[in-house]
Order: sequence, then C-alpha cells, then structure tokens
Amino acid sequence: MSRASAGRPRAVGRAILFAAWLLSRAAIAQSAVQQAVPQPREPITLLISLDAFRSDYIQRPAAVHLRALAARGVHAERMVPSFPSKTFPNHYTLVTGLYPAHHGIVANVVADSVLGRFAVGDNPQVRDGRWWGGEPIWVTAERHGVRAAPYFWPGAEAEIAGVRPTFYAKYSDRVSHATRINTVLEWLGLPKARAPRFATIYFSDVDDASHRYGPFTPEADAAIARVDSCVGALVAGIARLGLTEITNIIVVSDHGMAPIAPERTIFLDDFVSLDSLEVIDWTPIAALAPKAGKEAYVYRQLHGAHPHLAVYRKAELPARLHYADGARVPAIIGISDEGWSVTSHARFALPGGKPKGGAHGYDNQLQSMSATFVAAGPGIKTGGITVPAFQNVHVYSLLAELLGVKPAKTDGSVDSVRAILRR
Ligand code: AMP
Ligand code: ZN
Ligand code: ZN
Repeated sequence: MSRASAGRPRAVGRAILFAAWLLSRAAIAQSAVQQAVPQPREPITLLISLDAFRSDYIQRPAAVHLRALAARGVHAERMVPSFPSKTFPNHYTLVTGLYPAHHGIVANVVADSVLGRFAVGDNPQVRDGRWWGGEPIWVTAERHGVRAAPYFWPGAEAEIAGVRPTFYAKYSDRVSHATRINTVLEWLGLPKARAPRFATIYFSDVDDASHRYGPFTPEADAAIARVDSCVGALVAGIARLGLTEITNIIVVSDHGMAPIAPERTIFLDDFVSLDSLEVIDWTPIAALAPKAGKEAYVYRQLHGAHPHLAVYRKAELPARLHYADGARVPAIIGISDEGWSVTSHARFALPGGKPKGGAHGYDNQLQSMSATFVAAGPGIKTGGITVPAFQNVHVYSLLAELLGVKPAKTDGSVDSVRAILRR
C-alpha cells in the first residue's frame, strides 16, 4: 500500500471533517444573518416642521423632495393654522390638537397673572411645564409605552403632565441641519428595544429668510431649497436604515408669510396714550392689557380708529378664531390686515424698527397664512392624492392614529383627516 493509498482514508476523513466544519461555520453564519435581520418593528412616525413654509411653496422649483414625497402619498391643498398664525401657538396646536386659547401658548409673547412673561427662544419659560397645557402627542405616546423623540419642538424641553419624552435636546438655532438629521436618524436606527417610534425635527430657514427679505425673494427660494434638501436627506437616511416601509413621514409648517412694508404701519400712539396700557405683543396682533380703570378708554380710542386695524374686546372676538376663552388672552386685541404692522413712533425710529421683509400672525383664514401638509408612509394613502384644506387642530388625532395610541380629548378629530389615512 502506498503511502498515498494508506493516506487516503485519513484524507477522506479530513475532507469530511473540513466539510462538517464548513457546514458548522455556515450554520453559525446563517444564525448570525438571522440575528442581523431586523425584528419586525411597529410603524414609526417622523414629523418634520419647516417653519413658515407657505402652502404654495411646494410649487416652487426648489421643492423637489417635498413634491416627490407628496407624489408617494398625500398632500393637502393647504392646512389652516390656528389664530394667531405664530410659531409657538401653532407648533403646540399641531402636537396637542388644542386651539392656542385652550393649550395656553396664546402667542409668542404671553402674560400670565401668576407666572409672569413667556417669550420664545432660549428662555427658562420654554422649559417650565406650567406654561404648557394639554397633552402633547409625545406625552400620549410615552403614556402608552411608545418612546418619543421630539428633537426641537416647542414644549419638548418641558416636563408636561409629569412626563418627559425619552429623547429631546435643548433648542439652539446654531445646531446645523446635518447634526439635526444625523441625530434623528441615529435615534431611529437604534435597536428595537431602545428606538423611538415617534420623532420630530425642525428647520427654521424659510422663516428666517422670509422675515428678513420677504416671502417672494431669491433668499426665500434659497431657504426653500435648503429645507427641501433636508427632507430629501431624511427620506434617504430612512431608506438607508431599511425603515422606509414602516415609516410615516409627515411634513408640516406652522403658518405662511406675507410681505410687509414701512408704508403699511399702524402707530398705536396716534390714537391712544401708551401710558394707559401694557402692550404684551405688538404686531401683527396687538395684545393689549389696559391699566386699571382704562379699558373703556383704550377701547374707545382704538376701535374703528384705523381702517387696517380691527379692535375687539376679548369677549367680542369672532367665534371662528377660537380665541376669546383663553385665560391668557388680554382684554383688548387688535388684528391688523394682511401686510400691515403695528408699532409706536418710538419703536419705528429704532434701528431695524421699520417694517420690512415678511410677517405672519395675521388672521388664520388668509391664504397667505396657509401652512403645508404632506405625508407618505404605511399608514397614509398612496398615489399622490390631494385632500381639501383642513385645520391644524386635527394633526394630533392623525398622529395618535398612526402611533396606535388612544388620543386625549382635543379640539380636533381623526374623522376630519380620515381621507389621509390608508385604513
Ligand atoms: P416666529 O417669530 O413666530 O417665527 O418665531 C420663530 C422663533 O421661534 C425663532 O426665533 C426660533 O428661533 C424660535 N424657536 C423655534 N423653535 C423653538 C424651540 N423649540 N425653542 C425655543 N425657540 C424656538
Ligand atoms: Zn413659525
Ligand atoms: Zn416667523
């Protein structure tokens, strides 16, 4: 017997052992693959806010990613903001389903008889839950065991109704778009046991540019392009994570924008002594708290005084504004016509005091104040459907439905947005 033949059985044995080893490796590899395949996950909802993105901006050439998202899902002719058409009242309405008078953030500047003053920006009040009424969707979600990640949303930094979202961050307009996008994608990409199922993200470029330069300017168009590319980056990032099939993406804005100009200025001190009142908010909605015994005087002086300023006693505000029953709404409200600004001669003379560029806050029914709504995802109808205009108080109910959580009682209803839902 040759060494070779003598060696064959051993070689065959080794080959068998090698094959068995290979098979076992393959089995290990296979089980690793099985482990790497993501577990089935429940649907995610990502709410994207593009501040001041007028409903007609989706038609601008730069809004390519937004139009692509709308073509996959649903797009509203327009979304009607709540009165006043300002940032904080409307962001908080979107997530609570309550009119500003009912959630308490009745303007960007608010006066409360106990708490004092509230102002937007990096102020302690934005982190003080006592200002924030109602139940934001992230609180509803967390109460139902759904982890939430409102990353830059008015109210997200406060403990509301005893609940904080699992993920949130301190607002800073200096955080780059890339950091915002990467942070949200990182959170969504966490293992199932830790990932949020609801997240928000916020971009203020369009608001900043259109305040400064006006809504129909190259600067506003450049801002539209920047925030649109953020929508594109989020859609692409979700696809990279393999989450497209289970993610509802909802793009909203809080209000629109109208051009303003110095020749459309209303000077309060042309009509009333400023010593007789406290101006809580100036423009375009003048929120006026007359001093003791001065209410009748202030009203008499201002009511009908200027053809572009409608002045109401709180109780006489039109019912359609849903504003009269707000505890933090002061006694007299002046509503200026679209494109007009309210100020005093002293304020007008200050550097930057002359109205220019754009403003919002006006009557919420105005076409120019209309907000954007675009949605696509597993819970949303497909095929690029356009639904008629609806009020932003219904968005909370829609979010609750998509998250499968029981909504709190609100001013909105899921029936009003049923046309958007796939089922
Ligand atoms: P507006 O004048 O109504 O457009 O208000 C927009 C302002 O709100 C901007 O100056 C933003 O910097 C500010 N803002 C937006 N979101 C937040 C937030 N989550 N916390 C604090 N300030 C914010
Ligand atoms: Zn805004
Ligand atoms: Zn603004």
